[in-house]
Amino acid sequence: MQGKDSVLLVDDDPAFLHVAGRILAAKGYEIATAPDAGQALSRAGERFYNVAVLDISLPDMHGTELLSRLLVMHPDILVIMLTGQSSVQNAVQSLNSGAFAYLEKPLNPDHLLSVIARGLEKQQLSLENRRLLRELERRNRETEILLAVAQSAVQHVELKPLFESALKEITDVMDYDAGYVQTLENGSLVLQGCRGFNRALAGQFARVNAGGSVWQRLCESAGPVAVERIDGSPEPCLAWLAQNGFQSYLAVPLVVGRAVVGVMGLVSQTKQRFTRHDIALLTAIAREIAMAVRNAQLYEEASTAHALRELDAMRTELLANVSHEMRTPLAAIKGFASSLLQEDVCFDEPTRRSFLETIDKEADKLNHLIEELLTMSRIEAGTFEVRKTPRSLEEVLDSVADTLISLTLKHHLKITIARALPRVPVDIVRIGEVIINLVENAAKYSPEGTDINIEACPRDGGVTVSVTDQGPGIPADYHDRIFQRFYRLEKKGSEPTPGTGLGLCISRGIIEKHGGRMWVESEGGKGARFSFCLPAGEGE
Ligand code: ADP
Repeated sequence: MQGKDSVLLVDDDPAFLHVAGRILAAKGYEIATAPDAGQALSRAGERFYNVAVLDISLPDMHGTELLSRLLVMHPDILVIMLTGQSSVQNAVQSLNSGAFAYLEKPLNPDHLLSVIARGLEKQQLSLENRRLLRELERRNRETEILLAVAQSAVQHVELKPLFESALKEITDVMDYDAGYVQTLENGSLVLQGCRGFNRALAGQFARVNAGGSVWQRLCESAGPVAVERIDGSPEPCLAWLAQNGFQSYLAVPLVVGRAVVGVMGLVSQTKQRFTRHDIALLTAIAREIAMAVRNAQLYEEASTAHALRELDAMRTELLANVSHEMRTPLAAIKGFASSLLQEDVCFDEPTRRSFLETIDKEADKLNHLIEELLTMSRIEAGTFEVRKTPRSLEEVLDSVADTLISLTLKHHLKITIARALPRVPVDIVRIGEVIINLVENAAKYSPEGTDINIEACPRDGGVTVSVTDQGPGIPADYHDRIFQRFYRLEKKGSEPTPGTGLGLCISRGIIEKHGGRMWVESEGGKGARFSFCLPAGEGE
């Protein structure tokens, strides 16, 4: 028998309390007595009694009232009502209020004993039912944790939220006060998530050497390691946990393939016996977490492979584009230089000079191409810098006026600058290059003798600059693509226009570095209008 069953006898008749108490004690029950309802309630407030035998007429309260109050305090208590006079009304009222039985005085001791024995049997059953129900609910909740962790393991590529939600579920539902997950990185265990740790403890667990005895045992067994008392442990991690008031510790390995790739640790502030059921559940959760770790590793490997393939494709694309553009000026330089070096041929001075001028011009082209490539790579690497000072648009256009004129000798160039344009912070050299690029394209792609207009007007406190031509224009499908590096729109059947496909990409990069935007408007066949806006400086 697990402890004695207890009976509380409540009656204002001391003789009854004495006699009934002795009879029940002789049968092995633990007895408490109370002469009135007040004392009965205070005793019941201190502990649970299996049975209460109540006289229906008490000096301070009606027995049925006491019955109701006791049932509120202890819903499982078994109450037997007693009365001196037989009254059907009392019996019905008592039973309706939740009494287990109703007995008449004078009491037949055997009758009392058999009613108590029967009631206790029923009580045991209902207590056991309730325990089973609680256990079932707990198992359900645990299954839910496992399901939730399994689901997030397949959904999340991000591991931290997964670790944190798993630890939250475990510590909320199971008897653990705190937990953490560490994964193995270059010989160290690195903290990936924790719950119930203060900042100092999380700091201690942030990165620890994977050489401790718990880790070794995890690796050897690839199974859980339970430490029921951690105080006095020589292992630093366990000592830190003990210093923070934790008493027992369970480590579950995260196993991928045959390798242990991390650990999930759970701690409790009380001495804990780890049940086989708990260990099995936590092992299953750890298996899901390990699978997510493996998925994340695979994802990273795949992304790296993808990035490498992209880099490789970019390199091939760059070589194909650049080598073609370099070959033309190089061939010219090589050809004219070789001619000049021929010892048996003597060139007159004007021819010699024109050869040298061509070499000079082609070398400039090469230089320009190399500059463009360098700028491009700086923009892409995010290391491209601009030096901004407040300038007016007149100043910017003046700085490139000679180049613009020489580029548009065969076109009609018109420049319109709105009055009272604000000064804007710009890198004058770089914005000059953007305008040159747009005007050079306008001249390159539109027929001789047509108009090229540069306009500057105010916009949202800053300025917008547009370059409009009367060339073939650009179909809407290509309005974004022409700003991609190396992208060129070649017209079928016509002479290819020289170019690298870098100009617009670099120009947009420069404008964006100024906090501005660049775009094109064009209806195929009706010319193109390239615009960029530059924001006002702070406080302007
Ligand atoms: P590139 O001129 O060296 O080819 P860009 O990056 O400056 O390189 O231009 C990309 C492409 O956009 C050009 O190849 C051309 O097809 C198209 N493009 C640019 N400007 C114009 C324009 N004003 N009119 C028509 N097409 C243009």
